[in-house]
Amino acid sequence: MGSSQKKNRNTSEIAVSKLQKNRQNQPSIESITKGIFNGNLTALSRGITLVESQNNKHIQKASKLIKACLPKSGNSIRIGITGVPGVGKSTFIEALGELVTNLGKKVAVLAIDPSSSISKGSILGDKTRMESLVKNKLAFIRPSASSGSLGGVAQRTRETIALCEAAGYEIILIETVGVGQSEIAVHSMVDFFLLLKLSGAGDELQGIKRGIIEMSDAIVINKADGNNIKKAKTAQNEFRNALHLYPIKDSGWRPKVLLCSALENEGVDLIWKQVISYVMETKKSGYFQQNRVSQNKYWLMQTIEDRLKNNFYNRTDIKEELKIQLELLNENKVSPFTAANYLLSI
Ligand code: GDP
Repeated sequence: MGSSQKKNRNTSEIAVSKLQKNRQNQPSIESITKGIFNGNLTALSRGITLVESQNNKHIQKASKLIKACLPKSGNSIRIGITGVPGVGKSTFIEALGELVTNLGKKVAVLAIDPSSSISKGSILGDKTRMESLVKNKLAFIRPSASSGSLGGVAQRTRETIALCEAAGYEIILIETVGVGQSEIAVHSMVDFFLLLKLSGAGDELQGIKRGIIEMSDAIVINKADGNNIKKAKTAQNEFRNALHLYPIKDSGWRPKVLLCSALENEGVDLIWKQVISYVMETKKSGYFQQNRVSQNKYWLMQTIEDRLKNNFYNRTDIKEELKIQLELLNENKVSPFTAANYLLSI
């Protein structure tokens, strides 16, 4: 045996023995659960890594872990924060995070980053963006799970919320960029949905999706500082007037339009006060709990639909037959409904 072969063998033997050692050192689900209940960060991170894993063994372990954590979850205020890149989401989250941790509350920051599943690059979730909050002992920041479909990422984020709550985090902030379906996913897992906006050239409502306004419990015009204050106030009026045209929400809450300078820490306390009023009002009316129940139902149905679709499209026979049916469709030899009926019947 040549020396390089010997070296290769030695290296692979070392790797195997390291792997075995690692396996032996892997903590049990019981000890991760206990760690999470004690607010231990290493245990929480380990738990989230399990939840994010696509490995079959890990999936089984993760579901055990979630089952153990569920009875201790639910005791938080979940807030969704959305806005285009550059609007000031991370600056705002830092300011809000500092405020609530100063009140002695533990805050967890999670993200749903649609860019990472599409382009494999990330707009969000970069830890270095929240430099002071990262150092705060009462804050836990977890970047977005970076692989898989939006449905998959959303499922893992939901499960991560449960783990964070079991670890005693009272405020959960979930950040997303306003792209495609990710806002709907975040809206369906939070209690309060906050849209961050910039004041522009007086045409604030143009180009903004109606659905986003309907989802928002607060529209916050950020960067209301320096020369921007006047424009921000004009935008605030414009949004306020527009909101009158929308029907009253099921929650009974009238969405608020607020000004803020995340950079100068102006207005963040008022936003927090509104969140608290919302929680108090909706808990009193019963909507808060009722909404969480409907969200659970939504995710159950959504997961079934996702699975059924994926199972169907991933079948080899369907892949082949679909190609054939698409060709027939192009040649006008079959109607879309006949083709669909045929595919669904095989
Ligand atoms: P994100 O992409 O939405 O997370 O935005 P960032 O929080 O990274 O902010 C983008 C830029 O806007 C940074 O240069 C911030 O310093 C700046 N910024 C954020 N909030 C404010 C604000 O309230 N006022 C001003 N003037 N600048 C801000």
